[in-house]
Amino acid sequence: MIYDLIIVGGGLAGSALGITMARNGRSVLILERAAEFRDRVRGEVLMPWGVAEAKLLDIHSLLLDSCGTEVSGWSKYTNEGQLISCRDLPSSSASGNAAMGFYHPEMQEALLNAASKAGAEVKTAAKVTNVQNHGQLTVTVSVGSREVNYEGRLVVGADGRQSNVRQWGGFGSESDHSSMYFSGLLIEGLDLKEDSAHFIVDSARGQMTSTFPIGNNQYRTYFAQNISESSVALSGSKKVPDFLSACTGAGMPEEWYRNISINGPLATFESAPNWVDHPFKNNIALIGDAAATSDPIWGCGMSLGLRDARVLAEHLLAGDDWAAAGHEYAVQHDSYFGAIHRIEQWMTEVFLSLGAEADSRRSKAMSRIMKDPSRMPDVVGLGPESPSDELARARFYGEV
Ligand SMILES: Cc1cc2nc3c(=O)[nH]c(=O)nc-3n(C[C@H](O)[C@H](O)[C@H](O)COP(=O)(O)OP(=O)(O)OC[C@H]3O[C@@H](n4cnc5c(N)ncnc54)[C@H](O)[C@@H]3O)c2cc1C
Repeated sequence: MIYDLIIVGGGLAGSALGITMARNGRSVLILERAAEFRDRVRGEVLMPWGVAEAKLLDIHSLLLDSCGTEVSGWSKYTNEGQLISCRDLPSSSASGNAAMGFYHPEMQEALLNAASKAGAEVKTAAKVTNVQNHGQLTVTVSVGSREVNYEGRLVVGADGRQSNVRQWGGFGSESDHSSMYFSGLLIEGLDLKEDSAHFIVDSARGQMTSTFPIGNNQYRTYFAQNISESSVALSGSKKVPDFLSACTGAGMPEEWYRNISINGPLATFESAPNWVDHPFKNNIALIGDAAATSDPIWGCGMSLGLRDARVLAEHLLAGDDWAAAGHEYAVQHDSYFGAIHRIEQWMTEVFLSLGAEADSRRSKAMSRIMKDPSRMPDVVGLGPESPSDELARARFYGEV
């Protein structure tokens, strides 16, 4: 059998695409390497603009009913732990949505089940070892000691930030220089409201800490710091006390941590985005992190993955010329990823970069933003639709 679509990777992006294409009657095979999902320290808050994408893909209720929790507040604190503001997301986001938190492994399981119910064939414990195109697209999977080949009209690489499909498809990739470490840990029992995300930016030290409720009294807590000779990548259980003191050192009140337990691994990532220009060629499309990994500090990766799934599905379902559909998706992808990429670079430069020049840039920007908050890009509510041209940059930096 030749499948319409073979999707390599059953993460958020691959499953969302699989569900949509199967619901529309296309034959879909999803190949997922993991036999079961465990905590890999990944994104667990979907921005309001990503929630809008989930609604367009008709997976919003499914997520909310199976694993999601609504996060309607966006609270910012001083680095002494005093609340500065709490943004009400539904009333202040263009889409009218709250954000959504979930435990990543639960979300993956729920979406793969939904893909299967929609008619997709889902194989787990199925590691793809090659994708080849010799006139016919063939995907090779190792199942135990055996190798099995599957044929498809289109192959989608949704295999995450270390994508192999990128290499097998002959895509070149680009990357920014890494300037930040980003560490995450799953904590239960923080003494905090469960319907709000909480942020503290300590610009003078180039640090940020944030915590997101993901339901059942669990919170994913992050700490971002500049990479320098003295900074340490906080990974592994021995570094948990250092991680917790880094968070409190950056301003998270100690009383929040009185009754906590640690429920997952501590892992650190370098925040540098890497991406493929025009993620479609020779009937292979890349989506989600395989197409472009945005800076995890600003939390747009999953929203981008859902945008990819929706845009690619819309083009594929519009007609029979899938080569044209793939190229149209790739052009749109470059445009919205480019916008997020620019905005995230500005945010890092304005809020987290270190040194005298950075301090002076920040003080100019902040004095204008205090008077007119609309100068700040809105990655949370608007995402790539937040203006990202030169005028938007100059307004944000307080230059006009
Ligand atoms: C520390 C951190 C914090 C983040 N915080 C946020 C956040 O708050 N909000 C947000 O929106 N985003 C966040 N992100 C980004 C977000 O996690 C990713 O953008 C998102 O998970 C990408 O989804 P995906 O489906 O593209 O890839 P993945 O979730 O990586 O899924 C890829 C799947 O492919 C499978 N796979 C890989 N290789 C193969 C193979 N050879 N064969 C078969 N299967 C394979 C993997 O097992 C995996 O299940 C964060 C990322 C990090 C690292």
